[in-house]
Amino acid sequence: MPNIAVFIEQRDGAFKKVAWQMISQARKLADANGGEVWGVLLGGDAAAAAALAGKHGAHRLFAAADGLERYDSERYGTALAAFCRAQNPDLVLIGATAMGRDLGPTAAAKLGCACVSDAIGLKFEGGAWEVRRPVFAGKCFVDVVPKTAPAIVAIRPNAFMAADGGGAAAPLASFDAGQAQAAPKAVVREIVSADGGRVELTEADIVVSGGRGIKGPENYALIEDLAAALNAAAGASRAVVDAGWVDYSHQVGQTGKTVGPNLYIACGISGAIQHLAGMSSSKCIVAINKDAAAPIFKVADYGLVGDLFEVLPELTKAVRGIRG
Ligand SMILES: Cc1cc2nc3c(=O)[nH]c(=O)nc-3n(C[C@H](O)[C@H](O)[C@H](O)COP(=O)(O)OP(=O)(O)OC[C@H]3O[C@@H](n4cnc5c(N)ncnc54)[C@H](O)[C@@H]3O)c2cc1C
Repeated sequence: MPNIAVFIEQRDGAFKKVAWQMISQARKLADANGGEVWGVLLGGDAAAAAALAGKHGAHRLFAAADGLERYDSERYGTALAAFCRAQNPDLVLIGATAMGRDLGPTAAAKLGCACVSDAIGLKFEGGAWEVRRPVFAGKCFVDVVPKTAPAIVAIRPNAFMAADGGGAAAPLASFDAGQAQAAPKAVVREIVSADGGRVELTEADIVVSGGRGIKGPENYALIEDLAAALNAAAGASRAVVDAGWVDYSHQVGQTGKTVGPNLYIACGISGAIQHLAGMSSSKCIVAINKDAAAPIFKVADYGLVGDLFEVLPELTKAVRGIRG
C-alpha cells in the first residue's frame, strides 16, 4: 500500500500553500493506487492543520509539538525520521521551499533513503514512484525512480493545484518525535527576514511581474508600486534578473519560481515559453505590452496593448483610489 506522508510546513503558525497542493495531488494518486495520505505537522496549530488537511484530502494528520515551534534542521530532521521509522510511509513529500530544501536531505541522511529535489511531477506506475524534475538549468527534464522506501521528494510550490475536496477534518494522532534523544548542536536565536515582510511570490494571491519592457532597474519601482497597491508580490522575467535589475528571488519561470495566483499581471513581458512555464496556471492573466503580436496575449485572459510607462502609473492610481 503506497501510503504518502506530506510534510505541512508552518512558520510562525502560518501554513504554506504547497502543503495543500501536495495533499491534493497525493490524494489523487492514493485514490487511483490504494493507500492513504497522511499530513505530518511539527509545531503549529494541529487542529487548524487537521481541518485544512482533511479538506484537501488527507486521511490522517500526525502531529508533534514538543520543542518544534520554530524550525531547526536537527530537531525537525530527527522528528521526521522518527515519524518515518514509526509509520513506514512509502513516500514523503516536502515543499521545495527554503525549509524543505534543508529538511529533506537532513531527514534522508538520517534514514539513509533517497531524496529527490525540485520535483514538478509525480506518478506511480508499475509499483514504483516516478518523479519528474528539471535539469541543466531547465533545458531538459529527467524522470527519477527512487529505489528506497521511504523516498523523500521535494515538490516545487505551485507545481500542483490545491483541490478543495470538502472533506472533514483529518483524524489527529500524535507521535514521539524523538526529541528526548536529540541533543541540539545549535540553537536558533532569532530569524531576521531579508524581504522586509513583502508578500512571498509562491504564496501570493496576486503577482505583478516586470519584463525587459521596463527598460532599466530604476523603473522596477513601477512594478513594486502596483504590487504594493494590490497587496501583491512583485515578480520578474529572467531577462530582468539576468540584467541585474532585480535579484533572482523575483524570477518567475522554468528556472525561477512557479506561481499560481488568482491574478497575474505581466508588464512588458513577451511571453517566452520558459516564462509561461512558471505562471500559466494562474487563474486570471492580464498582459500589458505595446506589441499587439506579443505571444503573452495568447495566454492572457485580458490584454492591454499600450506603453507600460503610461498604463502602470494610471493603473496604480486607480487601484489606490478604489482601495482608499
Ligand atoms: C533554459 C532556459 C531557461 C529560462 N528560464 C526562464 C525563466 O525562468 N523565466 C523567464 O522569464 N525566462 C526564462 N528564460 C528566458 C526566456 O527565453 C526569455 O528570454 C525571457 O523570458 C524574455 O524576457 P522578457 O519577456 O522580459 O523580455 P523580451 O522577450 O525582450 O520582451 C520584452 C517585451 O516588452 C515589451 N515592451 C517593450 N517596451 C514596452 C513598453 N514601453 N510598454 C509595454 N511593453 C513593452 C516588448 O514588446 C516585448 O514583448 C529561459 C531561457 C532558457 C533558454
